This record gives sequence, structure tokens and C-alpha cells, in this order.
Amino acid sequence: MIQTLVPRKVKVLHRFRETPDIVSLTLPKVGTCVPGQFYQLSVLGYGEAPISVASYTTKTVQFTIRQAGTVTNALANLKKGDTLYIRGPYGKGYPLKEYEGKNIILIGAGCGVATLRGVIDYIIHHRHKYNDVFLFFGYRNVNDIIFKKEAVQWKEVFNFKTALSKEKSTTCHDWTSGHITEVIEGLKLRTKNTGVFICGPPRMINDTVAILKKKGFTDEQLYLSTERLMYCGIGMCCHCMIRGKFTCKDGPVFRFDEIGYFKND
Ligand SMILES: Cc1cc2nc3c(=O)[nH]c(=O)nc-3n(C[C@H](O)[C@H](O)[C@H](O)COP(=O)(O)OP(=O)(O)OC[C@H]3O[C@@H](n4cnc5c(N)ncnc54)[C@H](O)[C@@H]3O)c2cc1C
Repeated sequence: MIQTLVPRKVKVLHRFRETPDIVSLTLPKVGTCVPGQFYQLSVLGYGEAPISVASYTTKTVQFTIRQAGTVTNALANLKKGDTLYIRGPYGKGYPLKEYEGKNIILIGAGCGVATLRGVIDYIIHHRHKYNDVFLFFGYRNVNDIIFKKEAVQWKEVFNFKTALSKEKSTTCHDWTSGHITEVIEGLKLRTKNTGVFICGPPRMINDTVAILKKKGFTDEQLYLSTERLMYCGIGMCCHCMIRGKFTCKDGPVFRFDEIGYFKND
């Protein structure tokens, strides 16, 4: 436990700009993490922010960071070879073992797709253990799409759909115009032996859950990854509490019946 509390000094191994406001950083791996968990990343003089694991590799770990404010801008401005600090991993990841031999549907929007990327990498490494895998990702426009290079492989291996809410549909594109929730609403999805992992803004998660429940999915099949304001990451500061649970310790991945719909709280 003490090892995960002490920030470790590491250097950026690789930096890639995904979109005008999203950057991916590759760092040396600290500890053993699973997709869905997060680390606290810090830059001296700026502070610390929780960022999800966005990969599944042995020696390194990737983080995909949206420039939202002070810390995330400082992280995104780091170059290859620059120093930062990392502590963790923290929290509970996705129930990937539980869904071995079953189907998995991943639904993400915006930077929420980053959290699901670790799951995708994991499934690619253990492809024989899972049946049908569906990826449904939503962004505002073409410039917001992250992991464009990786998506080329995903299209070959998985059932993959992208929806862009602010782009008008024209011919010869491999995306649909509209919200990803509209795409899901129009699809016939097999509910039996299927788990659904969702990550995105609270409203998108609420709408997605409501649609899936109408299609017959039960609360026990739906897993949400939540992002609350958070400081300590270890269940001490209480900033991240949601319906009596700590996002940092009990989550950030919750089964739907553990927390229910997001409210404006
Ligand atoms: C478990 C967890 C995993 C996360 N994973 C990722 C990730 O993989 N990639 C990523 O880009 N971001 C992720 N976030 C969100 C990220 O931690 C926040 O954007 C970051 O802490 C903001 O810090 P800042 O100093 O850059 O912004 P600040 O200057 O502190 O704030 C800028 C704005 O962002 C708001 N804000 C701050 N923290 C959050 C938050 N947690 N959720 C929503 N709004 C917030 C503030 O209220 C303010 O309006 C995650 C958050 C959690 C709790």
C-alpha cells in the first residue's frame, strides 16, 4: 500500500497529440494495473490529477489527457524526456475476468474512450477468451476523434461504429452523423451473456443506460466509469463520494445498481 502512496519520479517516454486538446503520454509502468484503474499524475508547481490507464502493456503505461485546466495543461505540455510524478494505481477496474467466454459492448464518448482503450488492448491480448466485441464511440466532429491509428486495427477485429454529433453525414465515410446513443437505439443487441462498459459525460451515460434497459439489459450487466472531483485518491478527502461510495476506492468503475443514474449533485 505504501508504495502506491509515494509519488515516483518518471520521464515521458513518448508523447502524441491526438486532437487539438488531447495528448497521449507513455510512461514507464509503476506497479501492476488493470484497465479501468487510474493513477495520480503530477507536475511540480502545478499539482496533481487523476488520469485513467489507457493501455494494457507490460513495461509502459499510456495516459490520454484532455486539457481541462491547470494540471492537465501542464501534463499535456510535457515533452519526451521531461519529468513528472506518478502514484497509484488506484481503484477498481472493469470486470474482465467475469466476462470471459461472453460478449462485451464498449460504449464511449469524447475523452471517455481513453478509459475504454485499456479494455480494448486487454481483449486484443486475450482475444480467444471473449466472444463478440462491439465498440460504439461518439465524438462531436472529425477533429475530436482519438486513437485514429489504433482504430484501423479495431475495425478489422471488432464490430466498430463511430458517431459524430456535429458532422453532417455525407457519403463514403465510416462514421454516422448524430449521437452515439441514437446509433445504439437503432441497433438490435443481444442481451444474453453480454456485459456493457460505458464511459463518457454523465448525461451520455444516463441516456445510454436508459436505452439499454429498454432493450432488456439488466442493472447487473451495465458498468459505468465515473469521473468525480478528486484529490487524495485513497478514500481520505471524501471529495469524490457518490451515493455514499468513494469513486477512488469503490470505483471508478461501478455496476449500475451500485450508484444508479447521475443526478446534478
Ligand atoms: C478516476 C478519474 C479518472 C480520470 N481519467 C481521466 C483521463 O483518463 N483523461 C482525462 O483527460 N481526464 C481524466 N479525468 C479528469 C481529470 O482528472 C480532470 O480533468 C483534472 O483533474 C482537472 O484538473 P486540472 O487541474 O487540469 O483542471 P482545474 O483547473 O482543476 O479545473 C478545470 C475545470 O475542470 C473541472 N474538473 C476538475 N476535475 C474534474 C473532474 N474529475 N471531472 C470533471 N470536471 C473536473 C473543474 O471544476 C473546472 O471547471 C479523470 C478523473 C477521475 C476522477
